[in-house]
Amino acid sequence: MDIPAPDFPRLEIRNLARSFAGRKVVDDVSLTIMPGQVTCLLGPSGCGKSTTLRMIAGIETQDAGEIWSDGALVCDASQHTPPEARGIGLMFQDFALFPHLTVAGNVAYGLKGRASKTRARVEELLAKVGMSAHIDRYPHELSGGEQQRVALARALAPRPRIMLMDEPFSGLDDRLRDDIRDETLDVLKAEGTAVLLVTHEPEEAMRMADEIALMRGGRIIQTGAPYNIYNTPVDKDAAAFFSDVNVVPATVQGALAQTAFGQFLVPGVADGTKVDIVIRPQHLKIDFDRQGKGPNPTIADGTPARGTVKRARFMGVESLVEFTLDDGSQMSALVPSVFLPKPGMVLWLMIRRDKCFIFPRPETSVI
Ligand code: ADP
Ligand code: MG
Repeated sequence: MDIPAPDFPRLEIRNLARSFAGRKVVDDVSLTIMPGQVTCLLGPSGCGKSTTLRMIAGIETQDAGEIWSDGALVCDASQHTPPEARGIGLMFQDFALFPHLTVAGNVAYGLKGRASKTRARVEELLAKVGMSAHIDRYPHELSGGEQQRVALARALAPRPRIMLMDEPFSGLDDRLRDDIRDETLDVLKAEGTAVLLVTHEPEEAMRMADEIALMRGGRIIQTGAPYNIYNTPVDKDAAAFFSDVNVVPATVQGALAQTAFGQFLVPGVADGTKVDIVIRPQHLKIDFDRQGKGPNPTIADGTPARGTVKRARFMGVESLVEFTLDDGSQMSALVPSVFLPKPGMVLWLMIRRDKCFIFPRPETSVI
């Protein structure tokens, strides 16, 4: 394969935009992907992921913006490299193999050159995806997962510099999907391909991505490593995209937000600003030491709040316990292992200060 230029991103998108019927569907999208890097374009259905991918592939035209690969301009408003000359491999959910061709025939499709060379490349790829034993079979003789592996080998055969994948695993059942995701990643990394994977599932993005680009309403609202995106979301909806969240509303007075869990310091926020304190259920703690004790003192991690158990369910690895606080608000806690208190039981709850996010409510935002 060609040697990646070390200083150049394999794929760079600058300010890509596209409207349909006067509505901006992709709005000022920029992305950089290095060789061997996997970036997941993650967002809810209809936010513009597939349209972005289709513009990069060259099967949809852009209204504005530039696409670069290895330091060379692929496409801008006036120049358009045809899809087949972009060095891009595509994998979609409906990855139909050619039914009348064998596995070898499917993978060889699109490879030019001498038959012996082609055969060697086909064998190499089928070995990589663990399908050597099936080389002479036809697609209808393969399971869904095996067909997916062949489709991957076929997409990789011409040595694409960039692989664009649009929800490629959503047709597979759960257990199979985990295996195929991991195998696919191994093969793509070994080939040095830059990967842009579209998904609406946060778990898939967390599992596969070196970097996640979170998309909403045609725009990328946050880009970062999975750990950073999960732990430093830009707003409440970005936090809520990755897990259920508890939201504690409060109003700021003297740089403090008063809540059932005590005061939260919000420096630089004007008096009267409404804020949301957002905490994931696994970071709501039950203060067993306070069990059966009276009014609660403020402790290092804030003030425990009284919660009455509404419902408790065993989820496998954890238990999900739903509470009603004295002010009527609802909170849910994920507790490791088995913890199934009876409805009506009163417990003291705390939230981990280092794990909560405080956002001004958008309509009253002063930051
Ligand atoms: P996603 O892949 O994130 O689900 P898409 O990129 O497919 O979203 O679509 C984004 C929006 O653009 C949707 O509202 C969709 O209906 C609209 N859209 C996509 N393609 C076209 C088209 N060819 N003509 C008109 N509207 C389109
Ligand atoms: Mg789509």
